[in-house]
Amino acid sequence: MLLKIGMRVQVGDQSGMIAMDNEDGTWNIDFDSGVEGDVESRFIQILEDQSLDHLNANPGLGSWAPAGARIVAKPWDQPKPDGWTRFVCFSDTHGLHDQIPKNHMPPADVLLHAGDFSNAGELEQVESLNTWMKAYPAQCKVVIAGNHDITFHEDYYQKVGAKRFHRGRDPYDCRKAKSLLSDCIYLEDSGTEVGGYKIFGSPWQPEFCEWAFNLPRGEECRKRWAAIPKEVDILITHGPPAGRGDKCSSGFRAGCDDLLTAIAQRKISVNLFGHIHESYGFSADDVTLFVNASTCTHGYRPTNPPVLFDLPPASELRQATAKAAETRLKSSSKMPALG
Ligand code: MN
Ligand code: MN
Repeated sequence: MLLKIGMRVQVGDQSGMIAMDNEDGTWNIDFDSGVEGDVESRFIQILEDQSLDHLNANPGLGSWAPAGARIVAKPWDQPKPDGWTRFVCFSDTHGLHDQIPKNHMPPADVLLHAGDFSNAGELEQVESLNTWMKAYPAQCKVVIAGNHDITFHEDYYQKVGAKRFHRGRDPYDCRKAKSLLSDCIYLEDSGTEVGGYKIFGSPWQPEFCEWAFNLPRGEECRKRWAAIPKEVDILITHGPPAGRGDKCSSGFRAGCDDLLTAIAQRKISVNLFGHIHESYGFSADDVTLFVNASTCTHGYRPTNPPVLFDLPPASELRQATAKAAETRLKSSSKMPALG
């Protein structure tokens, strides 16, 4: 049987889930112990009855299976169940959207982009992204900005960004930036409803080398996350929450603890983000599917394939997510209190 993303596998005495096909004969595996690693095919054993197909037939099964959402494995030819909606996720395209291989552009109902669509907010790149989006085979496109999209953060651009990144040229007119995304829905600490799903987007992340949309950790982050509505099906943030797709090549985990708490307090089915290119992939707990869709690699090549997932109709999704959240609450209250 062929290995596929999402499969439960055994390597030596460790079990885990295949997170990514490195396309060089090795697979990236998220081990249940919390570590991850690249492993050659010949050392990987598929755990019986735990393939993605099995999971798809029984959504909600397994400790890592999120409620309702189904990852669509490459080459994305798996049919979508009747009444479901297919999402295709990109992030961190950094002005290189035109270099994304054609076979990395599968059709979907909704395209989501988690920010860093430019190098440093260049309006030419924003305009070109809009053209790429317009031509993409999806009915609806939803985008947020990231720390690199500095012309979208006017206050930052005027105080720091223009001097730091656009020295020697006329600064860009920030007021134009958002209007250039005319063929998508742009979210900035705001929400929209698409196909019945409530989507909320926010560009902020904990302090990262003095770029746009940066916040000191702690109180300021908490204040931003407090603005996330109670009822959100898909949360798009540029930065990851702590411990999910947030590991930098240095080993440092850049994710935000307060974002993770905010997600756990709400019944959120999917959290999409990017920002930490080298942590591209996905993982899940019982309630939430976490997707780091960074299209660019650590070396800024736009070669990571998009991440696709299907969602059941919104009412079914909410029911499944609420049930999973309730089960989690019950099992956590059964745990002995820490001393
Ligand atoms: Mn980036
Ligand atoms: Mn970023």
